[in-house]
Amino acid sequence: MTAIDAPYDLAVIGGGPAGVATVLAARARQPHWRLLWCRGPEAPARAFLPAYGANSLLHRLNVPVERMGLDAEAPVDFFDWLRQEHPDRGVEPGQFVPRRWFGEFLQARLEDVDVTSCFGAVRSLRNEACAWRIDTGHDRPGGPAVPHTALRVALCLGMPTGLPMAHAPTHWIADPWAWWRALPAQGVPVGDAETVLVVGSGLTAVDMVLGLRERGFRGRIRVVSPGGRWSQAHAPAAPLAPAVREALDEALDEAATARQVLGVLREFAARHPWRAVIDALRADTNARWAGLAPDEQRRVLRHAFGVWNRHRHRMAPDVCAALDADTALSLEPGRIGVDSEGRIVKRDRSGGTVLDVALALDCRGPGFRAALAGDSLLARLVRDGVLEAHPLGTGVRSPADPSLALVGAARFGERFETSAVPELRQQAVDVVRRWMP
Ligand SMILES: Cc1cc2nc3c(=O)[nH]c(=O)nc-3n(C[C@H](O)[C@H](O)[C@H](O)COP(=O)(O)OP(=O)(O)OC[C@H]3O[C@@H](n4cnc5c(N)ncnc54)[C@H](O)[C@@H]3O)c2cc1C
Repeated sequence: MTAIDAPYDLAVIGGGPAGVATVLAARARQPHWRLLWCRGPEAPARAFLPAYGANSLLHRLNVPVERMGLDAEAPVDFFDWLRQEHPDRGVEPGQFVPRRWFGEFLQARLEDVDVTSCFGAVRSLRNEACAWRIDTGHDRPGGPAVPHTALRVALCLGMPTGLPMAHAPTHWIADPWAWWRALPAQGVPVGDAETVLVVGSGLTAVDMVLGLRERGFRGRIRVVSPGGRWSQAHAPAAPLAPAVREALDEALDEAATARQVLGVLREFAARHPWRAVIDALRADTNARWAGLAPDEQRRVLRHAFGVWNRHRHRMAPDVCAALDADTALSLEPGRIGVDSEGRIVKRDRSGGTVLDVALALDCRGPGFRAALAGDSLLARLVRDGVLEAHPLGTGVRSPADPSLALVGAARFGERFETSAVPELRQQAVDVVRRWMP
């Protein structure tokens, strides 16, 4: 019998943490299901890139180790695994451990899990005669492409990539992670007398700076981003006192506009530890987001997304300290573009300046605003009418068809918090529960 006439009970599309969590949630709750896992274009050895692949040990989680669990019902499983399998690593609660270790944990969780894996990008998905036809890549790397069918599909496609920079010159590195992986084990292809430009100041930018230094690059690194700021550092912050928390909730209940919400947050952050204020919002962020009118949501994305991300996605304190101590590193406000002659231009309040750099690493991060442009599977599913774009254009609406489910970043718009591991593990369980009798 071929795969075509024996549909899988569930196909999980996407080989990142959301895919792993969904496979595990399905296996635990539906032990008799036949599961297909379309793991994406990366070779198995490169699984879990970029966030949890074979990065440097300097590339660290931005979440304390005990909060990075994969199982919604046992959320300290990563911490427990480290203590049990790697006591030599001496991990303690509150530490920001290498992200690579989380990749090792994901791999370990998959051992002995009964699932059929296939590799390569899924190109299309069509509902035919009550089953989904999945035109996919290969059952093994390098093997022939084989279509599959499944009764249910969970899409776990991760963050959208940004749009490529038009007219980019040859020293513009559009995919810094691919560039990084292709580097020889030692050294970097730039001399210490040269300058490296890092475009953006988010997580990937930080990783690139740390990685360049670890590889011995001593030259100048210019980091340019619209806000011109790094993410804040983590620091201990006791939770808000119950009365303060109640007052915060009441004030937010009254806030109907983006401006009012920000006003409340600023006011409370001025009077109480700001980290505790941000952390207090975590459980309710999606409900508060859903309570804003679409125009107000747009305003949040336009005016407050950057500042929110800098405070919400904090860095390990010693990572921040390493950046601060680096005297050959500068962080500048501005927008980087490339003109029609392929010159890299920085625009800021004082106008435009052509930059003379040996290398430019494009670390502008996920392109939520362009999530449905280009040739991604998500964009194609919208064009094919399988999914409907969310009006914000940052993701898609939950599918009307109950046999199709979304986990993770594709839900951005309908949800605000939807790409960090705590949300992914919960969504994975919710999706599988929905399909239980
Ligand atoms: C540098 C960096 C550091 C981060 N650090 C943290 C952290 O410390 N803590 C945290 O909680 N989050 C962190 N994140 C956020 C991170 O994105 C999430 O934790 C997590 O990786 C998201 O998992 P995901 O499975 O949804 O997406 P991804 O990890 O992006 O995986 C998506 C998968 O879908 C596959 N795919 C895409 N298109 C197709 C297709 N057409 N066919 C088949 N497969 C496809 C991809 O190949 C990939 O395997 C970090 C992100 C980055 C970039």
